[in-house]
Amino acid sequence: MQVDKEICMHCGACVGACPNNAIFLYETFIEFNQNCINCKLCIKVCPVGAISEG
Ligand code: SF4
Ligand code: SF4
Repeated sequence: MQVDKEICMHCGACVGACPNNAIFLYETFIEFNQNCINCKLCIKVCPVGAISEG
């Protein structure tokens, strides 16, 4: 997963939706870690379409 930092508004929705604690929200950016299981829930919940595969 990757996030477009120009689009992300740091709402935290993806962090709450992730079933595997693979996303961390910092003040101005989010970061994915190796816990990601590619379920793509974060892509679905992001209100601005900032997350994509890759
Ligand atoms: S794809 Fe699933 S496991 Fe990976 S960061 Fe998104 S919600 Fe979490
Ligand atoms: S849900 Fe989208 S806009 Fe909100 S923090 Fe995650 S990537 Fe950023």
